[in-house]
Amino acid sequence: MTNMFKDIIQKLYETQNITDDEIKLLIDLPESEAAPLREAALKRRREYYGNDVFIRGLIEFSNYCKNNCYYCGIRAGNTQVERYHLTKDQILQCCDTGYTLSFRTFVLQGGEDLSYSDDDICDIVSSIKKAYPDCAVTLSIGEKSKETYQAYFDAGATRYLLRHETATPDHYAHLHPESMSLENRKQCLWNLKSIGFQVGAGFMVGSPGQTLDCLVADLRFLQELSPDMIGIGPFIPHAQTPFAHEPQGSLLRTLNLLSILRLMFPYVLLPSTTALGTIDPIGRELGLEAGANVVMPNLSPVDVRKFYALYDNKICMGDEAAQCIRCLGMRVKCVGFRIVEDIGNVRRSV
Ligand code: SF4
Repeated sequence: MTNMFKDIIQKLYETQNITDDEIKLLIDLPESEAAPLREAALKRRREYYGNDVFIRGLIEFSNYCKNNCYYCGIRAGNTQVERYHLTKDQILQCCDTGYTLSFRTFVLQGGEDLSYSDDDICDIVSSIKKAYPDCAVTLSIGEKSKETYQAYFDAGATRYLLRHETATPDHYAHLHPESMSLENRKQCLWNLKSIGFQVGAGFMVGSPGQTLDCLVADLRFLQELSPDMIGIGPFIPHAQTPFAHEPQGSLLRTLNLLSILRLMFPYVLLPSTTALGTIDPIGRELGLEAGANVVMPNLSPVDVRKFYALYDNKICMGDEAAQCIRCLGMRVKCVGFRIVEDIGNVRRSV
């Protein structure tokens, strides 16, 4: 059995591709057999990124959202969450703190908040670019028209994160209300790519209704899209959602998928997510050891963080940005990597 796994891993390392059945075997690789997969993924990440870990300063600037995704704690239907949005000045203050702490990428993340016009977002983006020309601005604010994406790009945003969540239509319909469609989600990603954004897609591991076939479809869609970033993290239920009683995603499966992604997409920017750190005290370290090369500490003001709970028990809710980066720096160092002061662009070739 062990030799069979080793052969599949070697094939994936050499060709960046394996069959659907082989993918399924690796996704469910038992812990006792996982070492060769981790080693191959680490070897690959070192070829492209050495021991560098890029940091992204996450600014959760609004928890208003018009949508009602069934898994999300800030969905419109959750009347118990206290809503907030940050002003441009507050956002710039977060960037200022981040810049001093060596961040060279700011990720503006929020729900689909209709109170910010396209002009408002463009104004925020261009103000950040003006104040910090050596930094990248990433947006993660959901589905928009191609024209709107173009306006964001023209204002200076060069990266966009939009997890596709699942590439299987039935599964998409299980996770989202009828008003949302997988077709539109995918179209948004294609539009972003055609405009010239560095694009990030991704999915939750263990979301309700997810099968191994769904995960294979996710990887195949990612191969088609060839995104610059891939964000995955375990599904974690939120008490005020329809999925409150669903089980959380598995740590081992998430780690196996991180390693598979590193081998399939050697160049990719792969975050070790906060969700991973939430389900296991050393989840983010394990994520780095599985092939991840990005961490995203929170730069949002501490007093609003508790209101941006996409899932329950999220970590780092009370830590100032300086504390977060110190703590993460130590965690990264403990597993043999180093945080670098760098804009952190994708390295498509070695
Ligand atoms: S997942 Fe995103 S789009 Fe869906 S409800 Fe949450 S914030 Fe809104």
